[in-house]
Amino acid sequence: MFRINDNYLKLPGSYLFAETARRTKAYEQAHPDQPVIRLGIGDVTRPLVPAVISAMHSAVEEMGCEATFRGYGPDFGYDFLVNAIRAGDYAGRGIDLAYDEVFVSDGAKSDVGNIQELFAADARIAVTDPVYPVYVDSNAMAGRAGDWTGERWDRLVYLPCNEENGFVPPVPDVPVDVIYLCYPNNPTGTVLTKEQLKVFVDWAREHHALIVYDAAYKAYIKTPGVPLSIYEVEGAREVAVECCSFSKTAGFTGTRCAYTIVPHEVKGRAADGTMVELNALWKRRMATKFNGVSYPVQRAAAAVYTPEGQEQIKAVIAAYMRNAEIIREGLTSRGFRVFGGVDAPYIWLKTPEGVDSWRFFDELLSRCQVVGTPGAGFGPSGEGYFRLTAFNSLEKTREAMERLDRLKC
Ligand code: PLP
Repeated sequence: MFRINDNYLKLPGSYLFAETARRTKAYEQAHPDQPVIRLGIGDVTRPLVPAVISAMHSAVEEMGCEATFRGYGPDFGYDFLVNAIRAGDYAGRGIDLAYDEVFVSDGAKSDVGNIQELFAADARIAVTDPVYPVYVDSNAMAGRAGDWTGERWDRLVYLPCNEENGFVPPVPDVPVDVIYLCYPNNPTGTVLTKEQLKVFVDWAREHHALIVYDAAYKAYIKTPGVPLSIYEVEGAREVAVECCSFSKTAGFTGTRCAYTIVPHEVKGRAADGTMVELNALWKRRMATKFNGVSYPVQRAAAAVYTPEGQEQIKAVIAAYMRNAEIIREGLTSRGFRVFGGVDAPYIWLKTPEGVDSWRFFDELLSRCQVVGTPGAGFGPSGEGYFRLTAFNSLEKTREAMERLDRLKC
């Protein structure tokens, strides 16, 4: 009988969104006359912008014509997109990336989930807490997280982020091989300054650790000086890979395109002591297991970097961020302590004294018919907090805030 990977059996069920969906559905069925507003959405809601659609249409036409048809594309992305990324996202910020340091993929989720294949089986992993669950679960599947105790993984190093430390994680106080950082952060919506990020880069250089930097929400940064890329920090090229996505930047959650940067300077140690470039390993992995993103989608992604594309995606992001502002104001004026939502589409609020995050979920649903996400679902330090998102419409977001007056807790 073939054996399975037992690590999968250690994973707790994907309880969070399944449970919020279950409770919401039950409420809706019991109260069909009370429409619910969803501020738990982690997906974009506005359509692809015209510049993107037009580029995709033209590429589809090319695929239907013998002279311009394309089969398999380059393993790591078409030149036109790789060069648009280098010029549009990096060169202008003083970051010079080599052509073969950019890897186009079908998603940041895939990349942050797959990158762990390059780490030693017993590598020690640190994550900020609360956390985007993919970093944790992908390492748990590979057996690096240890055992699930019901609240945490006993072999992971958690770096708590809370009101007390201003949501700035401490560097690990034990040796670790890899640190996952996500800024702007999901779920807290907070960012790190260049100086705060430098502390991590310096720590990683000193301790020969790797930083996996997830910048999926970088397009939402508007505060001057907040780094859009970890490579704005001196020395980061030696210790960091960076995962970016067109999903939240340009509405590609259903279209699928992303990219990861793996600088040549990032090196890890092999069992025999030799130093090996992660870039070479990632190339090998991508060439072996991935056949590229479709041509029309890569053309669509490249259109994001045209002047029209930039103008159009910025308008969409501004609309989402107007919602974030409304949520921040709505909560603050009602006495809540609110974090994030300035440089990210996520708003993280402190639940009222003595009310845990699931009770707050139930109160918000039953009294206001508003759905959010309990912080406890994102890790032990998420208890006592709650996430709302800016991805609903302006009208619904406004109405959701007005409904908060019905809260009693
Ligand atoms: N990284 C973070 C922090 C996210 O929140 C998400 C999606 O919600 C992703 C990555 C997924 O990105 P993609 O759609 O490119 O797979």
